[in-house]
Amino acid sequence: MQTLNLTDDILEKEHDYLVQSYQRPSFLLVRGQGMTLYDAQDKPYADWVAGIAVNALGYGDPGVAQAIQRQLETGLIHTSNLYHTIPHARLAEALVARSFADRVFFCNSGTEANEGALKFARRVAYDSGQTDKTEIVAFSGAFHGRTFGSLSITPKDKYQKPFKPLLQGVTIVDYNDIEGVRQAITDKTCAVIFETIQGEGGIHCATPEFAREVRCLCDMHGALLIFDEVQCGMGRTGHLWAHEALGVTPDMMTIAKPLAAGLPIGAILVTQAVADHIHLGDHGTTFGGGPLVTSVALHVLERVSQPDFLAHVRDVGDYLLERLSEINSPLIRQVRGRGLMVGLELTIDVSPIVKQGYERSLLLVNAGTNVIRLVPPLIARHSDVDFLIERLSLLLEQAHV
Ligand SMILES: *Cc1c(COP(=O)(O)O)cnc(C)c1O
Repeated sequence: MQTLNLTDDILEKEHDYLVQSYQRPSFLLVRGQGMTLYDAQDKPYADWVAGIAVNALGYGDPGVAQAIQRQLETGLIHTSNLYHTIPHARLAEALVARSFADRVFFCNSGTEANEGALKFARRVAYDSGQTDKTEIVAFSGAFHGRTFGSLSITPKDKYQKPFKPLLQGVTIVDYNDIEGVRQAITDKTCAVIFETIQGEGGIHCATPEFAREVRCLCDMHGALLIFDEVQCGMGRTGHLWAHEALGVTPDMMTIAKPLAAGLPIGAILVTQAVADHIHLGDHGTTFGGGPLVTSVALHVLERVSQPDFLAHVRDVGDYLLERLSEINSPLIRQVRGRGLMVGLELTIDVSPIVKQGYERSLLLVNAGTNVIRLVPPLIARHSDVDFLIERLSLLLEQAHV
């Protein structure tokens, strides 16, 4: 009774005091362990959402707790970017050592990372005396965030329409349409940006040919290529970076979601050629790269980039794809993805299935209308896949009658 009252009480407060921009299910999460979340009635939920591809190491991870604890013992949570501290330098070094990049700028979220990358692209052109080189090419189905710059390259009416006017000079091309890019890109293009695997847009992978051709076109027109790996980066595909499977490197890459195990962080990774044009005072942030978040991120990066860890993600990801393709349901249109970033496209709106999942102790999230997006903690095991398949099969059977 006590806990029911707690749930009711909290839900009522949320209803009364929060801006009503989210619709949430009517249970209250109070703790988590591994792949599992528990509500106030101690009902478990197998978590195939992971805080939207954030909680790569799951819940209650002792290594994460230790990284937090060790940093707290120094007393430094935040100092601002006015001063030198240890963890952000070490994290930047570790990111550079494991990527195409030469330098890193830290911020606090995915949208901020993209915002910064767009600013850097304009700054590079401006610094080179090309003041009219301001245009951006982005893609259908993209999701880059909700602040004005990122929103401007997120071509979804529902997100954009109430907030116009947006950034000028954005051209949207169909994802994976090489010819479209060839027509859209000009010498006024300062950047082309895409997700190497689209998350929110429904788990669509960029093809290697597309990535190669866009790289060439960018070089021809002096435009910078930006990869948004906010969702697909940091081990999710079984590669540390999703673009490793494409054989193409960008000029900038944005990352965020899983980087600090759930603490807010974002980063823009850039080549030296980009960094050469970013000067003192050009961009800044109060919180970005703080000692606590970067300590934790260094721990996450060291864990996630281990070959054994990445092999585990590939192994469980392959098993997931295999088990999903065995489900015999006329509602399934396609199963696709890489590693533990998988989409199950149905012939129907998936939101009732997500809702009924709650009844069956399963947390699922959609990607668009027809796709169930499976982005669990990267510590998921075969037995977690088995549980998912059992419950999902039931849900699909229910939905079909
Ligand atoms: C979530 C996401 C973002 C935005 O990240 P926020 O931290 O919510 O601002 C940007 N790009 C991609 C690919 C994402 O999945």
